[in-house]
Amino acid sequence: KRHKGSGVVVFSGAQEQALTRKHAIERALVSCDLEDEMYTVFQPIVELRSRRIVGFEALGRWANPQLGEISPMSFIPLAERTGQITAISRILLRKSLKALKDWPDDVYVSVNLSAHDIANSESIIRLLGVVNESGANPERIDFEITETAIVQDFEQAKTALNMLRNLGANVALDDFGTGYSSLSYIHRLPFNKIKVDRSFVAEIESSGSSFKIVKSLLMLCNDMGLKAIAEGVETADQLRVLRQLGCNKVQGYYFSRPMPAEDVLPFLDRFDAH
Ligand code: C2E
Ligand code: CA
Ligand code: CA
Ligand code: CA
Repeated sequence: KRHKGSGVVVFSGAQEQALTRKHAIERALVSCDLEDEMYTVFQPIVELRSRRIVGFEALGRWANPQLGEISPMSFIPLAERTGQITAISRILLRKSLKALKDWPDDVYVSVNLSAHDIANSESIIRLLGVVNESGANPERIDFEITETAIVQDFEQAKTALNMLRNLGANVALDDFGTGYSSLSYIHRLPFNKIKVDRSFVAEIESSGSSFKIVKSLLMLCNDMGLKAIAEGVETADQLRVLRQLGCNKVQGYYFSRPMPAEDVLPFLDRFDAH
């Protein structure tokens, strides 16, 4: 479209539509009922040696009456800008731990945190409060944190991660291998798990370098006593290669897409029967 008179091309129709939706999402986020509309879906994490589901990753979802389902890829960055992310994280953590109550004791839940959640002790203390109020065993909770959440303030991140570990929870470095300093973080911070990013898994057969990277990452984790989980496994071939490399925990569409809380127990029953 052209601005009348200026003669300058501003936006294509598609770009304009995307922007309108983005603005609508932003407006809805600040006025919506977060408590009502935010919920989590759960994706199984499978242990290969025991052929068991050992945990589920909780992934945030937003269902808005006007806008429908909104992806975390769009609402999480917006919520980080508006400052609502810490409230959303607490709501999602509480709902995840409520779901966890119904699961077998040997199944854990893995919750994603944002940079803002670990940016000050105040927000960490409030998250610890949610865990305490839920009555959940902290040993059954993993917190996933990406490298971008750490680069902002290393010392603060270290304090926050120690608070989570002292509670008894596990802390996983998410999207491992995609950032610039993952290697230095894993030995300077109290992580006890890492999640190998799905971009490596996606290319594990087609790219010799991805294969070698995953192989080295798994060896490194093994040497350092860190548990590794490979993300984004979509095919039997990817699974076979990961198994050959000694990877013991995997997650991906090959086993299941994320599912609503009410599907978790039936899914566990069906999986056990195999
Ligand atoms: P992530 O933490 O790396 O989560 C994995 C994403 O990959 C999820 O997308 C999941 O549905 C998707 N996925 C799982 N298996 C496969 C697979 O086999 N193939 C492919 N192509 N994708 C797979 P989702 O749920 O859309 O979440 C996207 C990202 O949004 C997450 O990436 C995470 O960074 C962020 N996110 C999601 N939920 C939350 C949350 O509650 N809090 C925060 N802070 N961030 C969240
Ligand atoms: Ca994650
Ligand atoms: Ca990830
Ligand atoms: Ca990711």
